[in-house]
Amino acid sequence: MQTLPTDEVRQIMWRYAERYDLQMLVQSTRSVARGVVARLVADGERNTHEWTAAKDEMLKAYDEAGVTAMMSKPQYGGYLDGPKNFVMALAAFELAWVDAGAATCCLAAGLALEPIIERGTPEQVEEYLTRSVPPQPGEDRKIARGAFCLTEPLPYVGVDTGIMCGKVRVANWEDGQEPMLQVDKRGRFITNMDYASFVVAAVESDDDRIKGTCMVILEEDDEGVYDRGAVTHKLVHQLSSTRDPIFHMTVPASRIVGGYTIVDGVIVPNHNHGKVLEAVFARTRVPVGVMTAAKLLSAVEPIIRYQRGRFRGGEGAPGTPRYDLGLQMKEDVLHRLVDVWATGEAATSLGLAAARHFDEFEELDKTRDELYAAAGARSVREVLKLRKQTEKLALEYLELLAEPEEERDQERLAELKSNRLVEYMVGESLSNILSPATKLWNTGQGANMMREAVSLMGGYGITEDCPGFLPQKWMDSQLEATYEGPESVQRRQLIVTMTSELFLTQFQGWITELRRLASDRPGTGACALGSAMELWLWTYRHLQEAKDADGKPLYRDKRQGATFPMADALAWLLACRCQVLDCLELEKKGAENPVLADALPGYVQFFTDLCHVQTAHAAGEVGRICADLVYGYNRHPSWEPTCEACAQAGEIDCLEGLIPGISVGTRLTSDVVESDGSHANKAGPCPRFAGIEGFISRRNKLDGCLTGSRLAKDRAGNVLAQVMIPEALDYPS
Ligand SMILES: Cc1cc2nc3c(=O)[nH]c(=O)nc-3n(C[C@H](O)[C@H](O)[C@H](O)COP(=O)(O)OP(=O)(O)OC[C@H]3O[C@@H](n4cnc5c(N)ncnc54)[C@H](O)[C@@H]3O)c2cc1C
Repeated sequence: MQTLPTDEVRQIMWRYAERYDLQMLVQSTRSVARGVVARLVADGERNTHEWTAAKDEMLKAYDEAGVTAMMSKPQYGGYLDGPKNFVMALAAFELAWVDAGAATCCLAAGLALEPIIERGTPEQVEEYLTRSVPPQPGEDRKIARGAFCLTEPLPYVGVDTGIMCGKVRVANWEDGQEPMLQVDKRGRFITNMDYASFVVAAVESDDDRIKGTCMVILEEDDEGVYDRGAVTHKLVHQLSSTRDPIFHMTVPASRIVGGYTIVDGVIVPNHNHGKVLEAVFARTRVPVGVMTAAKLLSAVEPIIRYQRGRFRGGEGAPGTPRYDLGLQMKEDVLHRLVDVWATGEAATSLGLAAARHFDEFEELDKTRDELYAAAGARSVREVLKLRKQTEKLALEYLELLAEPEEERDQERLAELKSNRLVEYMVGESLSNILSPATKLWNTGQGANMMREAVSLMGGYGITEDCPGFLPQKWMDSQLEATYEGPESVQRRQLIVTMTSELFLTQFQGWITELRRLASDRPGTGACALGSAMELWLWTYRHLQEAKDADGKPLYRDKRQGATFPMADALAWLLACRCQVLDCLELEKKGAENPVLADALPGYVQFFTDLCHVQTAHAAGEVGRICADLVYGYNRHPSWEPTCEACAQAGEIDCLEGLIPGISVGTRLTSDVVESDGSHANKAGPCPRFAGIEGFISRRNKLDGCLTGSRLAKDRAGNVLAQVMIPEALDYPS
């Protein structure tokens, strides 16, 4: 590989080579990021928590570049048709390449619109999407910018919220008129709050005439208090605005997101707040994960530049290795940079795969209720029954799909494939995994690796002068791991959704797919990945049945110690799989692109090596986590007088006459109690492993599958020492 990956390479890997509209969006977003945004960061605008005129300029730049309008649909003044998940993810990637706070401004505006898009009435959708795009020529109006207000100061309610202080009551309800609602809500950490002209807030009824919870839209010029509140003193993302607002407002009931019905004199919101959140967070967590991924990839070029130039100006002259290679003469810095890069690749691949999945699934997802109705299921009970029946068909479909093409019953497969409900349930099971996994792994492991990236810049890394804003990005990544649901929220979702047999069957199918792949392309690490997946699956099934030393079951909601690590391990595997698939896509489709012709083999080899490095890392993590869980809940045996695990010295010494050497041999290979009751000097007898032989053999196999991964790292490191980079970073530092 002679140069850093070009846009052509990325377009193929991330599957938008055919989408010129998205390529244009990437270009225009990039120009704002590396222009206006980078200048703001370089000029120290992150040094203030306040929203400044300069920060406001950034919003105007978004409006002009088409970033603001990307959420809207053409019929409402937008310019991109179709689903917006991948669009948002690409824009978030470009902006977060420079500054994630800047990316957050546009994502938070999307977050405010999402409840309306997902669950709003047609009138609400039209009104807010139309108002959220910049005015057309000749139009004179303010752009509606939104904020999403879920979290509250009391009683410290995070995203994982079942409890709420925000209240809604009937303020006034005249006969035959629209009811007016009194909304009281205090928000904590609300993004965009400095300039939001509307807020979508979660509230709970405090009135017998309103049922349950809902989300409600508040406008800045509604009657009452619209107090933007105190500014949050953030250590991160200072290019976005965050405040703790206070609302005491009267609004018409038509502002309930999704509308309401009146039943026996009670206002019943059509969607409770949980249903709205479910729809919103299923998608919006993905671009957050992509933001952290972008940071890792953006770190590569500044680090290479730093490493090469480290000793220039000293004694070395041009042409000497010290001058030309600098720190890159050292293996460790190269290897660590390979790790940072490989993690960035895996995270981006996972995030963008998730975004594409949501785009593909969106239409089906939106017609879910119609599908149920068409199958005759109207009540909750009927829907549950239908889902149970459909699950069986969906499992059959997945099992057929996993069979080799020439052996499967094609007719039955086609029949099942045409069943929209089957398709829906398979897609849903993936959505439930991909979104929390992206958020969890990209941001959590991403933050760890950003620390590594910063460390590669030495002391420079913890100064404000560090190019590429790496230290800021390191800190920022912690926020990405926190908002829209901190890590525990993602883990809680995963440990429930990953138990779905529909997901587990797909997972099993992926293992088969990776095994096939490994025989053609062993260098990708597909073999290690398949083995790690098998180990994970074995452990998962084991934990379902296993009990701890006190006889208490392990895989239970309350035992987060036993379940959460399995969610982490799964996320490592998913990220690697997406990375391997992207690499294969480059190899396949790149061959059809004449621009890449000569350079392609170099890129493919390099990305293949990164896959291998990353799968080795993931396999190590998964092996460690699984071993810890499988062994860790058994009590270690101790030297007890009744210990039956130990051989008695008297017995084996007696046998010495018959079998010479047995007394020494037994002492070497197992635990022996001496005649005075003493034991060898160690903690206790060795544990026995009855029932987990399956684990041991899989783990052994996995270790063997790491063969070649260090050679891959060496190769990738050598490429990093030779790859050409531009003279200077293309944005200010
Ligand atoms: C800069 C910024 C911008 C934000 N923007 C918005 C916004 O626009 N709109 C909005 O509504 N919110 C916003 N938030 C709020 C954000 O979503 C919450 O901060 C986040 O969800 C975490 O909630 P919390 O701070 O209350 O943490 P807590 O709930 O107090 O969590 C503390 C710790 O406990 C863990 N934990 C919590 N519950 C559980 C559990 N059940 N099981 C196991 N562990 C648990 C958490 O993972 C975390 O590690 C923003 C926050 C910040 C900092």
